Amino acid sequence: MQKIYVIGIGLIGGSMALDIKNSNPNTTIYGIDANVSHLDEAIEIGLIDAKANINDLENADMVLIAVPVDASLMIIKDVLDAISEKTLVIEVGSTKEAICNVVKTHPKRRNLLATHPIAGTEFSGPKAAILGLFNGKTNIICEVEETAFKLQEKALKLFADLGMRIRYMNPKAHDKHIAYVSHLSHISSFMLGKTVIEKEKNERDIFDMAGSGFESTVRLAKSSPAMWTPIFEQNKDNVIEILEEYIANLEQFKNHLETDNYKAIYSEMENTNHIKTILKGIV
Ligand code: NAP
Repeated sequence: MQKIYVIGIGLIGGSMALDIKNSNPNTTIYGIDANVSHLDEAIEIGLIDAKANINDLENADMVLIAVPVDASLMIIKDVLDAISEKTLVIEVGSTKEAICNVVKTHPKRRNLLATHPIAGTEFSGPKAAILGLFNGKTNIICEVEETAFKLQEKALKLFADLGMRIRYMNPKAHDKHIAYVSHLSHISSFMLGKTVIEKEKNERDIFDMAGSGFESTVRLAKSSPAMWTPIFEQNKDNVIEILEEYIANLEQFKNHLETDNYKAIYSEMENTNHIKTILKGIV
């Protein structure tokens, strides 16, 4: 019977727990979470078998760290201190450079695999967990060469059971590219939501008139500020760089409108339609 400890039993930790239990019933899953009511919920809905704490980690075959990225930075060294020589620790935070830096010289660095599963929803907590969330999705692994080979193999077997495909990247490249395709989308959605809420003080009107375009564009604005603030903090430089380009594009679009340059507007949109080809086969 293998023992897996999930630290942070929310959307990602809970979904992994569900998948692991499903593909490998001979597993006991323990939950560790700063939020006691989340632990109770996780037991109630069957994500975990029992509660645990960090002192129990010496018994773990595997530990999944799925807490917000600021909390990951704070706890990761304690986790590595607490595990046995054979334990695999998988960390799933949405930023990778800060976490890889903080463990660089830790004596148990080889027990850790730094990953970012590109899967999720705008919801948080154990009730947001979904069976099969990771199936067909990409998992980005950073600094794979820093992880012991046997533990890499164990992790790859788990990701294969979850149905994930693997991409290898260095943490710097990960943080740069993820700022473009994920972090900017969240900022753009939050600020679209903010703008419309400020303009339409009567929220009922928004609800009545909101078509599927608004709903899908603003979906990410439902995401948790507790999760996203530390992501923006840790990836500040890349996010500012891409935000500057985005703002320049918005300014240019406004300028085309002010100068009645509809030819330019048409052509901007036509060029951007190319996204259909780029995303074909990805989403
Ligand atoms: P979540 O649903 O909010 O779950 C995180 C859980 O960790 C919550 O129960 C939270 O409690 C708890 N927690 C916070 N600080 C803690 C600490 N110091 N020790 C123990 N537990 C703590 O978040 P999530 O969406 O699963 O995200 C988890 C991680 O996965 C993050 O690093 C995120 O960047 C990464 N990730 C997220 C997605 C996504 O789409 N959501 C995708 C890929 C990767 P409270 O709610 O009380 O704070």
